[in-house]
Amino acid sequence: MIVRYVDEYRQGEQVQSWLDAIAAALTRPMTLMEVCGGQTHTFLRFGLDALLPEALTLVHGPGCPVCVTPIELIDHALAIAAQPGLLLASFGDMLRVPGTRDDLRSLKARGADVRIVYSPLDAVRLAQQHPDRQVVFFGVGFETTAPAHALTVLQAHQAGLSNFSLLSALVLVPPAIATLLADPANRVEAFLAAGHVCAVMGYGQYEPLAARYRVPIVVTGFEPLDLLQGIHCAVRALAAGHSGVENQYRRAVQREGNPAAQQALKRVFEVCDRPWRGLGVLPASGLRLREAWRTYDAAERFPLAEPIAREHPECLAGEVLRGLRKPPACPAFGAACTPEHPLGAPMVSSEGACAAYYRYRSVT
Ligand code: SF4
Repeated sequence: MIVRYVDEYRQGEQVQSWLDAIAAALTRPMTLMEVCGGQTHTFLRFGLDALLPEALTLVHGPGCPVCVTPIELIDHALAIAAQPGLLLASFGDMLRVPGTRDDLRSLKARGADVRIVYSPLDAVRLAQQHPDRQVVFFGVGFETTAPAHALTVLQAHQAGLSNFSLLSALVLVPPAIATLLADPANRVEAFLAAGHVCAVMGYGQYEPLAARYRVPIVVTGFEPLDLLQGIHCAVRALAAGHSGVENQYRRAVQREGNPAAQQALKRVFEVCDRPWRGLGVLPASGLRLREAWRTYDAAERFPLAEPIAREHPECLAGEVLRGLRKPPACPAFGAACTPEHPLGAPMVSSEGACAAYYRYRSVT
């Protein structure tokens, strides 16, 4: 079947025939993980997970950048935003993520100048509009949005702005998958990799991982038929005992990715170790500004005096993000923790697994 429009990736009859194909290919119980919050939300929104064969277990991974941002970085952003005269900008979801003692939304309500922006470049415009104030952009994302952050720094440099800096919480997906696979508690046998990350970086970077751990990794899109086709590829590979990378999302992803975006990334950022919420410090999993651009690094311009970094004791985000527990199995889900009163980031973010279950599954 040739599909050209988004609607065609949602057709009920096609959904049923792919569900039938998955059931026919399933030779034994299998566990798959999707590593993208957007995919998690599609599963829940369209109820696809409930239609899959019982022998197929789908778990949700650390695919939401807001959710994996460690609490110490949230605390750092809070400390920066509390400085008199300073303007801190970030994406809307970041305002409600709880830090150890506070969140940016509450800080804003108490008078701090915290702004929501829709693109990192909006923060550069704010710096141009307020030349007498320090403007910090709290940047969060995977490889998908990292090139836009690189352009932000380049644009600030071109504009000669000395009042702009970036607090980077940018992270890379393959080291997180490697960590999950190396964990003795891991039960995931195959992965659906996020199509948009691969649209930027290509999928060659997943090939050594698939070979080393002998797992199928399927680059997958975001519509219902994309996801079912991705699952079908993974199930077929597992049934045949094959590992390696397959590309379901060929309409957007090439093996080599987007070289121009990768070049911008490399020019501005270097790889560093980075703590992830729930996963600990992952080697070579974060992006920080290169030495040449360090003058734009908010972490250096506004160092954090006394890190505290304490997660809420009731929040099991670490287990949710490692696929060891589904959100409704967290005792706080829908009770102490709701989108209005979140205890952890996965209940806040528009890509968070806890938020997806809360929104699309009734809480009883
Ligand atoms: S439901 Fe709330 S408390 Fe439980 S893991 Fe999710 S965010 Fe944390």
